[in-house]
Amino acid sequence: MDYKFNPKRIYIEEGALEYPAGRFIKDKFSDKGVPIKIIKTHQRITGIPGKTREQGYREAKKTLVVGIRKSKDFQTCKPSAHYQLPLSTSCPGLCKYCYLNTTLGKKPYLRVYVNIDDILQKAKKYIEERAPEETIFEGAATSDPLPVEEYTGNLKESIEFFAKEPLGRFRFVTKFTNVDSLLSISHNEKTRIRFSLNTDTIIDKHEQGTPGLIDRIKASGKVAEAGYPTGFIIAPIFMYPGFKEEYSELFKKLKEELADTKVTDIPFELITHRFTNRAKKNIEETFPDHDLPMDESERRFKYGQFGYGKYLYSKEEMEDMKSFFEDQIKEHFPTGELTYFV
Ligand code: SF4
Repeated sequence: MDYKFNPKRIYIEEGALEYPAGRFIKDKFSDKGVPIKIIKTHQRITGIPGKTREQGYREAKKTLVVGIRKSKDFQTCKPSAHYQLPLSTSCPGLCKYCYLNTTLGKKPYLRVYVNIDDILQKAKKYIEERAPEETIFEGAATSDPLPVEEYTGNLKESIEFFAKEPLGRFRFVTKFTNVDSLLSISHNEKTRIRFSLNTDTIIDKHEQGTPGLIDRIKASGKVAEAGYPTGFIIAPIFMYPGFKEEYSELFKKLKEELADTKVTDIPFELITHRFTNRAKKNIEETFPDHDLPMDESERRFKYGQFGYGKYLYSKEEMEDMKSFFEDQIKEHFPTGELTYFV
């Protein structure tokens, strides 16, 4: 299956046409006959079709907005990094549980920023402010940045920038696989490319529009082969009949793929499925036929920091899963590290 992002409509801020990536996108898609609307810089996006929330969501995921990142401050990104690196927002994937479904509103269209030099200059200022400490930037806090890479080259530019910054580090996570343009560039091991994995059962049911497990594993093998630090997020972890066999198979295949590479330090971030009342309501509106397990009576309710709570697996279930995953990591990746399990 082809996971190439082919937008159905494009909005380009007029200021973005002053940048090579803005002009490239305009020329490329004009040739293909994709409707393009030139809008004012920072103008609100209106006119994405869709009578129902579901239709609006699906149409938004086929809409690309090409813009300029204002010079405002970067958001912080604790605890995994110091700052978000703003390269893009949203992604063409249709993962039902995606946290961006809650944070990006009802029409989570894709936005890319074309003024990458300005963004990286701003990153440089943050690095200088924190010197002699290292500063870590996260490139996937509000998007999956890989599906739009062939149109912007933002990841390539960022990776090459951080390769030359002794006190800067970059990381991003993806479910996508079009890593080839990043393999032969200079990264100086300053960028960690992490992959978000799940079992084929979960990908088929809940992560439509994203590559399957084997393709993600192969992409991770390519970046490891190219000498990048890598890492894995397994999330969200679901308990379902046969889940241990399938997650065990995931580790086995990953081990086989990475066997011929030199990677040793492999962090694993593991997140069990949880949901809030707000997320559940959003999911039910956006995916009326969803079959995500979200029965409150089967979960443990935990109050959160900001007054709203989440529904988690029970303590016993969490302990069982944690020890299972710890054993899997020890067995398949003795030098790997369980960064966290939540
Ligand atoms: S691939 Fe990631 S960012 Fe895209 S919809 Fe799925 S969870 Fe969200």
